Amino acid sequence: GASASSEPRTYAAVELDAVRDSVAALAARAGDAATMAVVKADGYGHGMIPCARAALDAGASWLGTAVLEEALALRAAGITAPVLCWLATPGERFGEAISAGIDVSASASWTLTEIAAAARLAGRPARVHLKADTGLGRAGAMPGDWPGLCDQAAALQAEGVIEAFGVWSHFAFADAPGHATVQAQIGAFRDAVDIAEKAGLAPTVRHLANSAATLVSPEAHFDLVRPGVSVYGLSPGPEVGPPARFGLRPAMSLVSHAALVKRVPAGTGVSYAHRYTTARETTLALVPLGYADGIPRAATNTGEVLFGGRRRRIAGTVCMDQFVLDVGDDEVAAGDEVRLFGPGDLGEPTADDWAVALGTINYEIVTRIGQRVPRVYV
Ligand code: PLP
Repeated sequence: GASASSEPRTYAAVELDAVRDSVAALAARAGDAATMAVVKADGYGHGMIPCARAALDAGASWLGTAVLEEALALRAAGITAPVLCWLATPGERFGEAISAGIDVSASASWTLTEIAAAARLAGRPARVHLKADTGLGRAGAMPGDWPGLCDQAAALQAEGVIEAFGVWSHFAFADAPGHATVQAQIGAFRDAVDIAEKAGLAPTVRHLANSAATLVSPEAHFDLVRPGVSVYGLSPGPEVGPPARFGLRPAMSLVSHAALVKRVPAGTGVSYAHRYTTARETTLALVPLGYADGIPRAATNTGEVLFGGRRRRIAGTVCMDQFVLDVGDDEVAAGDEVRLFGPGDLGEPTADDWAVALGTINYEIVTRIGQRVPRVYV
């Protein structure tokens, strides 16, 4: 409508009940394993603190973050649940992690050495999860380095400066059910746990499963599962299946309102570099979202949105703050609602649809929504 409203005109609505329902579904799949809700990257763009609280309400008992700043922000918000933070670089403020009761990960000897030094200073043992590379080729100690890492951890544990609380790893192809590497990584993980035990460690939590493995590979659950994208109601990939199959409900809807509607003649070049030209006299509508807000510029002439009762393709170049729709002769007005993506219940595209159209994954679509777009919790 035309009257001023206190509601933002452009926002990412985050339905916390959808987060709760999705976490409850994941925790049920996890069975006897505990659930760590991965809330890094601002809760995959959904807002870290509200989503962390919703996940803990619904049956998650751990939280996971990539970087220390995220873990400290959870503590600053008063969240006392166990938190694992896994991405450190030399010089990391491990003392702050230890003081805040945040579990840290070690893939290499330097990390254990720095953690131990910080723990000696803090006068308090650090809780550490030793990470094995079982085939992802990213973080984690390679098999040749794993026994040495375990021996170092055992010595530091005997000294009382660390507690080797976890042994863990991460999948390369969990979203491709049946891929040979999944069983191979589970086997390599069992071997890594055996080696840790032979070194005298008795890890309390062994964990390997991301969302996909939580949903479809029960043999990978061990003591704790670590779903991320599915906490927010999204499927970890098309081969795993649509979210509804698993009781997941996409939590985010990206909503805006047309900023301007105008008639233009046939042959009008639209937006930068005129990558779109009107075929006939038509109505253009301007949507106040752009690549600064996380709408990929690659959505130029490609992305679809729900506007004026139907799906419409973006006309021309996506700009920093705005893009254009060609609505033909349909009756639309400035102020009319635009839905970019959501659960799809209203006919709007899903984050999965955007991902397919842009050759990316739903993770990137939701995570890159910019800080200029307010998150509204519904
Ligand atoms: N565990 C680790 C180490 C991760 O890096 C991530 C996310 O990338 C996850 C778990 C959660 O993965 P997903 O979002 O696929 O469930």
